[in-house]
Amino acid sequence: MIKSVFIKLATLAAAAAALVLVPPPLSWVLAAAALALGLGVIAWGVFNVNSSFWAQTLWRGAGDEKRVALTFDDGPDAKFTPGVLRVLQEKGVPAAFFCVGKRVEQNPELARQIHDQGHLIGNHSFHHGMWINFGLHTTLRQEIDACNAAIEKAAGVKPNLYRPPHGFKNPALGDVLSDRQMLVIGWQVRGFDAVSNDAARITTRIVDGARPGGVITLHDGAGLQGTDDRSATVDALAVIIDGLRARGFKFVRLDDLLAIKAYS
Ligand SMILES: [Zn+2]
Repeated sequence: MIKSVFIKLATLAAAAAALVLVPPPLSWVLAAAALALGLGVIAWGVFNVNSSFWAQTLWRGAGDEKRVALTFDDGPDAKFTPGVLRVLQEKGVPAAFFCVGKRVEQNPELARQIHDQGHLIGNHSFHHGMWINFGLHTTLRQEIDACNAAIEKAAGVKPNLYRPPHGFKNPALGDVLSDRQMLVIGWQVRGFDAVSNDAARITTRIVDGARPGGVITLHDGAGLQGTDDRSATVDALAVIIDGLRARGFKFVRLDDLLAIKAYS
């Protein structure tokens, strides 16, 4: 937050100095350029999913070993999470599930099953609201703490890892997460499967797009600012796993890939 206040003050000071010290019309051009630059820096930190500008963010493992980690957002979903878990079990692949707190409360046995099958559970906010990334400290604290509490109650673990809904971050999020010593997890490649019912396209995006050390993002939950059907993801999953293995990739759990602690 201090960083954002500094950027805003510096931007205003530069614009004011241009208006006072330089004759028009050049002063207007310089003032507008200062405002555009300041706003651009702030927006870049907000919209760049893998930027650590506002909150420390990891999105790929070090080195060029052919290892990748699967992650799933927006569950646990009674309709689609069991299918995802079944494919992962059949293929012997570990994954990470960024769960939505209210869905953990609705499906505690699924959260427990995710954990019991050896997958990692992370925090994806309590409500996954449309406007959560405009939230300030109080809202973000409530969202993150309530989600962690729901996960702890259902699965007995307290996540260190947070994935912001829609991948956006703001200065307040950085403060809230650093107080809790939590990290943001971004992604190297994603399937755009929250808005797709085309299993072949999802598969191609991931299999062709994955790079060594990459964090891969898919969705096991439906209906949160996306469409209501995730069966294409479930259908694509086995093909994605086979396709990446054929390219020489090994699947490891997110915390192993990034050499971090999943829980506090
Ligand atoms: Zn989400």
